[in-house]
This record gives sequence, C-alpha cells and structure tokens, in this order.
Amino acid sequence: MSDPRPRRIAALVDGLTAAHIDGLLLTGLPNIRYLTGFSGSSALLVISQRDVVLITDFRYQTQVAEEVGDIARIVIEPSSLWTGLWQQLAQMSGLQVLGFETAHILHRDFQRLNEVGSRWQWRPTADLVETLRERKDDTEIALIARAADMATTALSRTLPQVSAGMTELAVAGILERELRNAGSEGFAFPSIVASGPRSALPHAHSSARELASGDFLLMDFGAVVDGYCSDITRTVVVGTASTEHRGVYDIVRVANERGAAGVRAGMSGRDADALARDYIERAGFGPLFGHSLGHGIGLEVHEAPRLARTSEGVLAEGAVVTIEPGVYRPGWGGVRIEDDVVLGADGPRLLTNLNCPNLFPLIP
Ligand code: ZN
Ligand code: ZN
Repeated sequence: MSDPRPRRIAALVDGLTAAHIDGLLLTGLPNIRYLTGFSGSSALLVISQRDVVLITDFRYQTQVAEEVGDIARIVIEPSSLWTGLWQQLAQMSGLQVLGFETAHILHRDFQRLNEVGSRWQWRPTADLVETLRERKDDTEIALIARAADMATTALSRTLPQVSAGMTELAVAGILERELRNAGSEGFAFPSIVASGPRSALPHAHSSARELASGDFLLMDFGAVVDGYCSDITRTVVVGTASTEHRGVYDIVRVANERGAAGVRAGMSGRDADALARDYIERAGFGPLFGHSLGHGIGLEVHEAPRLARTSEGVLAEGAVVTIEPGVYRPGWGGVRIEDDVVLGADGPRLLTNLNCPNLFPLIP
C-alpha cells in the first residue's frame, strides 16, 4: 500500500485555500499523527502550500526521524516548541493569515498567538483534519479490524475466568491482561467493568464491588493497534438470567442488530441513531436510552462522525462507527451492546465479530 500521508497533506492544503488561510498551525496530536506519522506527545506542525514543518523536542529525536522521515522538515527545539515556531514562521515566505485549531489549543497558547505571534493574523478553524480522518483508507480499516479482533479474543478468553465474588477491578485486570496477550499496544480507554446496579451507570468506573449471582456484568473496552482503537461492549449475567434480564437484553440486542445492519454511508447521523432508538422507544424504554447511538473510531476512540439525534451531518463512506444502544434502569441495572462497523460502498461490515453475535453467555 502506498504511503497515504502525501495524499492527506494535499487534501488538507486544498482545504486551506477554501478556508482563506495561507497556512495552518496544528496542535492536536492525533491530527499531527494522521498527517505525519509522528506518535510523540509533544509537537507543533505548520502546513502551508510550500512547507510542512514539524517541531518537537530532544526526547523524540530518534523517534521522529523514524516515524516522519522526509514527509516534513523536522526541527528539534531545545527550549520551547513555541520559540521554535516563531523562528520557523519568520523564515517561511507567503504567510500572512494563519489558521489555528480551536478544539486543540490551550487558552494560554492562544494568548501567545496574539502576543508574541502578532505579526501574523490568526483565524480560528474547526475540523479541517477531523473531516479528512472520518473517511478511513484500507490500511486504517485493517488496523481497526485487528484492534476489533483483539478485543473479541480478549473477551472470549476473559469470560471463562470470571466468577461470582470477584471484584469489577479484578475482572478489568483479567480483561486488560488478555488484551495485552492478544497483542494490544494499550487500552483505547480505561476499561469499564460495571456489575449489578452499577451497570446502569453508562460511564461507570470499575470499582471494588464484588460480582454476585443475578448481576448484570457490563464490560466496555477496546484494543489499540498502531494508534487505532476498537471499542466494544458486551453485557452478560452472573449466574442465571431472569425473565426480566432477558426482556431488557433482547430489546437492546434487537436495537443493536437494527443499527448495525441498517447504518449506511450517506445517511445522516440522526437517521442512523433512529434505527435503534425508534425500536427502543416503541418497546417503551426510550427514556432509559439517554445517550446517542454511536461515534466514529480511529486514532481516537471518540471522533467524527456522531450518530445522534442532534447530528445532521452525513456519514462518510469509509467511516468506522460504533453502534451502542443501551437501556439503563437506575438502581437495578443496565445493558449496552456495542459493535464496530465499517460503512462500505456496498453496506455496513461488522468488525467486532464474535462467533455468537447475539452473545448472552451465562456465567456459572
Ligand atoms: Zn465503548
Ligand atoms: Zn463507544
């Protein structure tokens, strides 16, 4: 596969013209990684019609050369990245109006632009790179698919090790060890393991609560491959499921299947959300599904697009999105089932392919 970075940079440069700016200062690290390959935690990037300049510090001297190669001119700045920025900008010709990334700049750094950097005009920009990142290429899809496989492998190896009496934190530890064993370079986010009434907290932290028979056990976690994330949730029952457990679970399962089978490139985020939400509402559980249906995944675990009632944006072909309906009954428990889906030209393709997609294992 050819190096995708020149194509990405060229697409961004086209966007600069449309945004009426001569160049763009990038401060968002995932955006910098997407454009240059640099995965370090300290960098500024300037892109114009003529130049691509990456400024980082001494700690990354070896890494930046390996990752970035000659896609950008690399500057190792000994004092402050900002000092390096002013020096580089002063040497670049044809720059008067520069954009900055409103979503990725600290207020104190914004003040630097208007004070030390006042010889240039600064224009706010939003989502110039995020929009490009929404449409994944084949290499990116393959990385997310590997991260999805690692997550499903880790889960299938974790479940047989789980039993009543274990704490949520211990289950999270097993899950994260199995993610590492499966080859994950890290965790897409701190794994959520929530049991019993805590499973009704959509974004619970794993706690010292001990699993008891009759609990829902909700696990939401993801693997990372070459910076690309997966994000999956499964909910099981410890011991024997009651009729009530099965009733709620089945509503969420059908909602998940409707979403994963019906989502299409070209659809609005709102229509995608409705695929699952309408079903949950008809079942009478609408008020208990209080979050949106899903989000894009890639270099970040939450990125564009949004599958939400408030999202009029159209889903791009090649986007990879989560489908994660949930029903949460406060004080009793909740179910969420989350899958990762690529929006291909000929329809959606499920990446989080557990052998039993309607997973509802009962843990003895
Ligand atoms: Zn998740
Ligand atoms: Zn998610």
